[in-house]
Amino acid sequence: MFTDVSGWSDLIGEAARRFATRPHRLFINGAWCDAAEGTTFETLDPASGTVITSVADAGPADVDAAVRAARAALESNAWRKMTPIDRGRLLNRLADLIEANAQELAELESLDNGKPLTAALNGDVAGTAKMFRYFAGWPSKLEGATIPVSPSGGRTFLNYTRSEPVGVCGLIVPWNFPLSMAAWKLAPALAAGCGCILKPAEQTPLTALRLAELIDGAGFPAGIVNVLTGRGASAGAALVSHPGVDKIAFTGSTQVGKNIARQCADSLKRVTLELGGKSPNIILPDADPAEVAEAAATAIFYNQGQVCTAGSRLYIHRKHFDRVVADVASKAQSIRIGPGLAAGTQMGPLVSSLQHERVSQYVDIGRSEGGTTLTGGGRPHDRPDGYFFEPTVFVDTRDSARIVKEEIFGPVLTAMPWDDIDDLVNRANDSPFGLAAGVWTRDVKQAHRIAAQLKAGTVWVNCYNVTDPASPFGGFKESGWGRELGRKGIENYLETKSVWINVA
Ligand code: ADP
Repeated sequence: MFTDVSGWSDLIGEAARRFATRPHRLFINGAWCDAAEGTTFETLDPASGTVITSVADAGPADVDAAVRAARAALESNAWRKMTPIDRGRLLNRLADLIEANAQELAELESLDNGKPLTAALNGDVAGTAKMFRYFAGWPSKLEGATIPVSPSGGRTFLNYTRSEPVGVCGLIVPWNFPLSMAAWKLAPALAAGCGCILKPAEQTPLTALRLAELIDGAGFPAGIVNVLTGRGASAGAALVSHPGVDKIAFTGSTQVGKNIARQCADSLKRVTLELGGKSPNIILPDADPAEVAEAAATAIFYNQGQVCTAGSRLYIHRKHFDRVVADVASKAQSIRIGPGLAAGTQMGPLVSSLQHERVSQYVDIGRSEGGTTLTGGGRPHDRPDGYFFEPTVFVDTRDSARIVKEEIFGPVLTAMPWDDIDDLVNRANDSPFGLAAGVWTRDVKQAHRIAAQLKAGTVWVNCYNVTDPASPFGGFKESGWGRELGRKGIENYLETKSVWINVA
């Protein structure tokens, strides 16, 4: 009905094909409904640019209905009186359902976002199940404290704290890891006992909608999770400005994140932001050049470079520069580019034509600033359709160049030599961003010293792009506010209440 699906329909199973080819609606208060204004938008296959299907385009009235449903569910006995163990049981049940439907979810993610199917299955979907599994253990551990207070006047008090859910949360997620980013927010929010409205990115709505079905199947009370597909400027903005929303958790661009922070200031809504990055990946002279070249290529080209932690600034000690950069360029040339669903694909298309345009423009800017592309720099010759972009390696860039300073969010690496470690740390830190950094060395003292000096929320030593539900993740500087995951992550979905009992 919507498109010639012959390009991908043979590459996915029956369940994913059926889901992908039917139109989709909003999930509000445990039921599926059209947008109040009847509007829809189309989601595209980035490997061909053709329409996959249509989804409802939520507007302010739908946001209002979802916020009311989340509030009512939050205050209902079904949710408020559920024991922490039972809340954990629901989260575990959802993890079971994600595992049972892993192949279908991975196929939908690969189709909608473009990423290789194996990456979707082993990375995104497996990580999503793990996220719900990890946070399933938290509801029964959200303890308060009894506090030894020192009142004057001979009075006696029992003072203790309670950890209470922050309330109704607006969860706004991006298109680079659609399902995982939804889980990074939903899992701690639900473990904390919050009500949720999830807004996936307009480019990649499919897995959030399938997740809504699984949430329903797991037995969460109606209204506790609502999923609104819609555009940032309408559904997203309405969620941010809605007075019934207590907290916004956002992952996306720094520009939109700053706007959201400004708007949240008006109502003093709680807000956490996980924003952009321009992460330095640093190779020390004692590192093994062969090993680091492979790792440096993966650090930037994984997920088509559309990763907020992408190792986009590669600083190689001058001693190894020529060899490592040549090896990274040769790895880039050997990456098999194709539709995410095609067997053997190692790099899929970028998510959208807009993203393709942005990345192409940055390559033009890099060249006009004097940079040289050792490899890549445009559309692969054998991929006339879709939003494919070659893995690209720049050299000869100045530190002040825009492609060294600004986040590209695509498979574009700038490789730069260095001589002095203190000077290098200053160069690495000379960025408005501070999300992540990599260090490659066999010298354990240097590793700890540099890890302490780098201004980044995550430092990886002899590894890159590793995350875990138990370990806090987030940015210094303009890379964000707050931390997700682990104990730090769940604290963002809780309010602390201090209770005083006069026991004199
Ligand atoms: P990108 O530019 O890479 O698409 P965005 O930051 O625009 O990244 O998008 C991340 C998420 O934020 C998406 O879900 C998008 O719909 C949403 N979004 C975009 N603009 C706004 C806005 N003004 N208010 C709230 N959410 C928004």
